Amino acid sequence: MHLFPYQPRKHQTEIIQLISEVLSNHRHLVLESGTGSGKTVCALTAALEYALNYDKKIVYITRTNSQQQQVLLELRAIREHAEESLKPRLFGVGIQGRANMCLQARYNTELSQGTAEELSKFCAAEKKKVHTSRKGCKYYRNVIEDEEKVEETYRWVREKLPYVEDFIEYCDRKDLCPYEINKELIRDAILVVVPYIYVFNPIIRNMLLDWLSRDEDDLILVVDEAHNLPDYLRDLFSSQLSYWMLKACIEEVKTYGDPKVSISQISVSKFCKTLSEIIRDLRDTYVYSILEDGIRNRNDKQDAFLPSHEFETEILSRLSITSKQLDQIIEDLLVFGEKIQEYKQQQGKLPRSYVHHLGEFLEFWMNLESEQYAKLVVDASNGRNPRIEAYCLDPSIGASVIKKFHATIHMSGTLQPLEEYRDSMGLPGDTILSSFPSPFPKENRRILYVTDATTKYDEIIKDRDIAGRIENYISSVCNTFPRNTMVFFPSFNILSMFQSKDFFKKIRRSVYVEEQKMSQSALMDLVSDFKSHGAKDGATMFSVMGGRISEGMDFPASQLEIALIVGIPYPKPTARQRGLQHYYEMKFRKGWEYTVEAPTARKLVQSIGRLIRDENDRGIAVILDWRAKRFKKYLEDLRESKDLIKDIQKFIEN
Ligand code: SF4
Repeated sequence: MHLFPYQPRKHQTEIIQLISEVLSNHRHLVLESGTGSGKTVCALTAALEYALNYDKKIVYITRTNSQQQQVLLELRAIREHAEESLKPRLFGVGIQGRANMCLQARYNTELSQGTAEELSKFCAAEKKKVHTSRKGCKYYRNVIEDEEKVEETYRWVREKLPYVEDFIEYCDRKDLCPYEINKELIRDAILVVVPYIYVFNPIIRNMLLDWLSRDEDDLILVVDEAHNLPDYLRDLFSSQLSYWMLKACIEEVKTYGDPKVSISQISVSKFCKTLSEIIRDLRDTYVYSILEDGIRNRNDKQDAFLPSHEFETEILSRLSITSKQLDQIIEDLLVFGEKIQEYKQQQGKLPRSYVHHLGEFLEFWMNLESEQYAKLVVDASNGRNPRIEAYCLDPSIGASVIKKFHATIHMSGTLQPLEEYRDSMGLPGDTILSSFPSPFPKENRRILYVTDATTKYDEIIKDRDIAGRIENYISSVCNTFPRNTMVFFPSFNILSMFQSKDFFKKIRRSVYVEEQKMSQSALMDLVSDFKSHGAKDGATMFSVMGGRISEGMDFPASQLEIALIVGIPYPKPTARQRGLQHYYEMKFRKGWEYTVEAPTARKLVQSIGRLIRDENDRGIAVILDWRAKRFKKYLEDLRESKDLIKDIQKFIEN
């Protein structure tokens, strides 16, 4: 405990001891500990002590930049508190993706959209120019030529342990590349704080290992907000081909030539047009249903399973080619795409080729036989951009690298059931699963539910009064209690059903509404305005569960005192969801529990978790749905309310 910088709170000593044991025994730990319980500083303390004693390094992975800041903030506190001789060794560096750290990308809209791979190629070409001519990236040139400035930057970083954003600003002022400077600094760091991609993309991981001069078994991996990781990995290992992407290919060949592919003598544009037609037809066949009068119904679902070889069979028959010729076409697309990339690179542009993406997708799709993937046809944008998708059902595909690390700690405030996380990630059976209760007084939080409301689709359609009752609950709570109140809906779709001027007029307070496409900065402004009402008249904010507010923002003290949860955020019964449930049923015999109940409970717990951030916070949550009682095991203090206003009044007065 001697590195721990604060007076330990309830459970913190136990958490540190547990992590220390896990590290000593080279094991894996799945740890749930309530939001605000200080798990970041506990994990850091235990991992740093171990790393110092056994010459290891720590890779701490986070999902958002604010989580990254929190880790660096705790490292500063630990260093401040540590004995003088240890201070130089308690050095850590935060890294973000190249799109954020490359100063050229910062000031160039095209480059700022680049993927890690594209920017890496762009950067390599720029650096080559610097070494062979007077051209190339000026930020890199300064790094290799201006030793004094570089040394001064190293000293500044070592002294300040800056947040990544501040570090980038500093380098920008000095015209130095932050990415290149970081590469050097990392060699001396005992801790690196990076986004998930630095561990789960094999190319980027190898680069990181190279900078650290260590193999995985010399590293401790800490996963922050681990409940996000399975979905993150599913997305990372899924692949899709959309109508818009094919349009981009056609535009690309207009500029860079439209060669004939393979012995089939089909032009790239003709090939892409055929693929677009096939995708549209597959969407019409499988996603849209035919109504009695023969008209296609576009509204009842947004995706469907695609029979295993249907897409490729359609390509062969419509173009009258053999599968061997199709293989040749794919190879030609890759070669042509590479030429476009090289050409763009020489021009100092982002080396992006849509034709190359197409070749990669088709290569992946044709070789996909695994039951760990579902082949889908999707229409999620009202018919504008249909796509086919190879959806990764099994995140353990990408998580196998975890087992190579010396030890791993997976933490979150909401991970129940812990077995689900262990199984989804393919962690070994002897992984330690541990859950610590919230350290804050139980009486500071109340969770109620009512039995005469629901967002269950067939009930809300059958009984038109339900929506009115929900509106009444919301308006009467908001009008009775001048406290900051957040109203969470299961989705933006359901929120929009309630989003009418007449309803909002009933709420006699300032009303704020989160919009799905809002930029991060617009959302931050909106939230900060809402927060400012907390200490005054109290406002109402409409938001969604599983979104940017409910999963990532803090509302201490009067910034949020009442949370109204409208409905239960069950996943939509899409083909993708059904595929996932079936896969988990086959693999673990727990399809419903792992893919429906657990993610729904996490969204509820995360939303309610906004209420209490420290020991002095008090707050009340109300779930406006009778199905809340199904989640009693995740919300132990859940109680039915027969008189909502009276119950809230009582809690506030107490
Ligand atoms: S050296 Fe740095 S600033 Fe220059 S292109 Fe590479 S990453 Fe970007």
